[in-house]
Amino acid sequence: MSLENKTLVELSKDLTAKKVSSVEVTQFYLDRIAQHNPALNAFITVCNESALAEAKEADKKIASGHAGPLTGIPYAHKDIFCTDGIKTSCGSKMLDNFIAPYDATVTTKFKEAGMVMIGKTNMDEFAMGSSNENSFYGPVKNPWDHTRIPGGSSGGSAAAVAARLVPAATGTDTGGSIRQPASMCNITGIKPTYGRVSRYGMIAFASSLDQGGPFAQTAEDAALLLNIMAGHDEKDSTSVIHDVPDYTAELNKPLTGLTIGFAKEHFASGLENDVAVVIQEAIAELQKLGATIKEISLPNTHLAVPAYYVIAPAECSSNLARYDGVRYGYRCENPKNLDDLYCRTRGEGFGLEIKRRIIVGTYALSSGYYDAYYLKAQKIRRLISNDYQTAFKSVDLIVGPTAPSPAFKLGEKVDDPVSMYLSDIYTIGVNLAGLPGMTIPAGFVKSLPIGLQLIANYFDESRLFNAAHQFQQATDWHKKTP
Ligand code: GLN
Repeated sequence: MSLENKTLVELSKDLTAKKVSSVEVTQFYLDRIAQHNPALNAFITVCNESALAEAKEADKKIASGHAGPLTGIPYAHKDIFCTDGIKTSCGSKMLDNFIAPYDATVTTKFKEAGMVMIGKTNMDEFAMGSSNENSFYGPVKNPWDHTRIPGGSSGGSAAAVAARLVPAATGTDTGGSIRQPASMCNITGIKPTYGRVSRYGMIAFASSLDQGGPFAQTAEDAALLLNIMAGHDEKDSTSVIHDVPDYTAELNKPLTGLTIGFAKEHFASGLENDVAVVIQEAIAELQKLGATIKEISLPNTHLAVPAYYVIAPAECSSNLARYDGVRYGYRCENPKNLDDLYCRTRGEGFGLEIKRRIIVGTYALSSGYYDAYYLKAQKIRRLISNDYQTAFKSVDLIVGPTAPSPAFKLGEKVDDPVSMYLSDIYTIGVNLAGLPGMTIPAGFVKSLPIGLQLIANYFDESRLFNAAHQFQQATDWHKKTP
């Protein structure tokens, strides 16, 4: 098998058996990036020198017998994770000149595992978007069809893993930004339970929704990555004190005895027929593997997008107040006075979508409107969360589509924000409730990949990995490459 199609598990075996060195693997991927990235635009920064230096260190660790399971394997970071001494742009002109002075906790964890950081991936500005067209660095192209979007906001990471420019990458998911691009690029991605992965050093968009997670080719690889990423962090007050299990421990459990629900609201109007067929076939496959399938209802599904698009902008308007040209990041030329400094810095430094959200969010939080919008949205959030808890009384997992359509054309929805927002309909409820959700390759519509979404109850990531792994043992959608 060619090196680029090897999973983390396979690469790890080869590294341990010294069939290949970390320097060789790293150079191999750097060469692939040099060759294919110009067409895809998946990377904002490629770390040629530091990656090779880290790979050399990893080879020493392997030689001395002190390697962990992923030591020496290259990965890419979404450019939202702070990386000490390396540009961390968050896809924005505002941070184009920002060299992070410290590591995110997730970055530290990858370093401790001996993994090799090969570069920082392109993304929608401040993680706001569903198509990766909101990046200051230009859109990422879908490796399956360069005229289409890769999904967003972690589109660079998803495209890089799908095109085999790197065997693993990180993403963040505030309303679907790991699961939706995983679906559109034919890879595996998981958004863990809120609080499972530290947000320290992960640039904030909407703090009550943001959660980091991994992308990889397979569920087994994603489980290995979450083993590294998960855990309580005293630097993040919302990270949860909860044991981290070995996420690979239950991969091989048979699915007999498992009850899986599908929500009738996820198959209502809006879902493209061809996509529904792929998802129904995937559900039938899970049934063949022994699971019991049951229809459930998530009656407030239609309120998820409106509630999210009040809450997320409200939080972003507050989080992005820090970019004012005073402390760090972009500053306008020759400010006349303080007001001018603020206005021009923010006017010039932020892109259109960011400004739209800051205005919406500020409005929703303003006195006189707070109760009507923000408070109302929070009440709806509770109803949505209750719907899931009712469902989990009778099912172990919920499955369904990740997105209503396959990857759409670049430019198709840029002038229609509401239609763009509606593409998040199946993913956003999971973030509002704080639940873990995962997407795995499940088939194709007109040669474009379609991902199946699996949702579990709080801290039940192991069950997601189990069902996904069993599905991937029985199917080979995840092995298809562009
Ligand atoms: N598409 C959603 C948004 O634009 C979700 C983004 C995300 O998950 N970061 O807000």
